[in-house]
Amino acid sequence: MSSSATVVENDRATASTTVPGPILLLGAPGVGKGTQAKELVKLWGIPQISTGDLLRANVAQSTALGKVAREIMQRGELVPDSLVNEMVAVRLKEPDTAKGYILDGFPRTLPQATWLDGRLAADTQGLPVVAVSLNVDYNQLLRRITGRRICPVCQRIYNIYSNPPQRAGFCDVEGAALAQRADDTEMVFAERMRAYVSQTAPVIEHYRAMGRFAEVDGDRPIAAIAAGIVAAVERLRS
Ligand code: AMP
Repeated sequence: MSSSATVVENDRATASTTVPGPILLLGAPGVGKGTQAKELVKLWGIPQISTGDLLRANVAQSTALGKVAREIMQRGELVPDSLVNEMVAVRLKEPDTAKGYILDGFPRTLPQATWLDGRLAADTQGLPVVAVSLNVDYNQLLRRITGRRICPVCQRIYNIYSNPPQRAGFCDVEGAALAQRADDTEMVFAERMRAYVSQTAPVIEHYRAMGRFAEVDGDRPIAAIAAGIVAAVERLRS
């Protein structure tokens, strides 16, 4: 298996020949995991698996899982581990995950992490996991979250403070009225941060203790962060 990525760091293109394998993107809500996952998808050609996106799709389709998840998500709390693990297990069976994948927003609890460890250990062909956490300070995260707007047609993401559309409230490409996620309010953000600190921070310590963890400054231009992630993955894979 081989794969390559080209990134620009300090105006310099650097090529990566690292086989990506399973990559976990960790970090607080609004830290840019989704944006970076999409950059890595372009670089490595492996899929992004966002548990938040999968859950929102279940909610939109009113599946049995979606009916349970809907109110939990609206409160900013975490959906029970068994349900999320099962959803991830189904997704990881898809053939596009063979060369690697980017898990965005999973694992978020220690039981999810140990479940994933067990699953990966059972796959003797697979590479060990690498976990990268993006760091951004609290006030910056609050602006990112409460300013986030999404085009319901093309899913393009704007921010009313840092990346506004040309016409306030409407997508530049589709002209559709932009939407705000129900959990992107300041109150729900505070609850999501509480869930993050109490339940997800231990996940970071888990991977740090395994020696499979790196931190990347998430308060930089998108390409520089992506370059930092690629460099971290290369270091952890070498
Ligand atoms: P996100 O889009 O990653 O910010 O996730 C949105 C919401 O989905 C979270 O606030 C949780 O309610 C739920 N969620 C996403 N991923 C997980 C997970 N791994 N475990 C439990 N709940 C999750």
